[in-house]
Amino acid sequence: MHLKIITHEKVVFDEDVDEIYTRGTDGEFGILKNHIPVMAALDIGVTKIKKGEESKSYTTMGGVLQFKDNECIILTTTAECGDDIDVARAEAALRRAKERLADKDASIDSKRAEAAVARAMARLKATLNN
Ligand code: ATP
Repeated sequence: MHLKIITHEKVVFDEDVDEIYTRGTDGEFGILKNHIPVMAALDIGVTKIKKGEESKSYTTMGGVLQFKDNECIILTTTAECGDDIDVARAEAALRRAKERLADKDASIDSKRAEAAVARAMARLKATLNN
């Protein structure tokens, strides 16, 4: 089956793959060859791709996945390969966002801080690729 990951800026991934695992708004799910057609909204998380013994993890920050006739398309705002992620930056972002969430100040935008936590955690998970 074939997978394309497309952002606003470019086609990030365009290859034949064996297995796809991602995080939808209803939870994590996987797709193997000959899966029935799927249309799913994606959450902030990691999309893991396997081909033979090789695997790669990309952050996928929301968007949509469509699978039909062994063609999968992921349209997402940001897709970063785990190999390209700056771990120290993601850890700092996670710390900052958690501090904001712990702050009782009413002016804190908690939804925004929660999204920042989710992005940082997805980045750290993508670097592990497991
Ligand atoms: P930060 O506070 O560290 O900027 P953020 O979650 O606010 O984190 P985003 O707004 O999601 O960052 O991303 C801004 C840009 O920086 C995007 O191009 C994204 O790919 C890049 N980026 C963010 N964090 C990292 C990271 N840890 N490693 C590599 N690139 C990153």
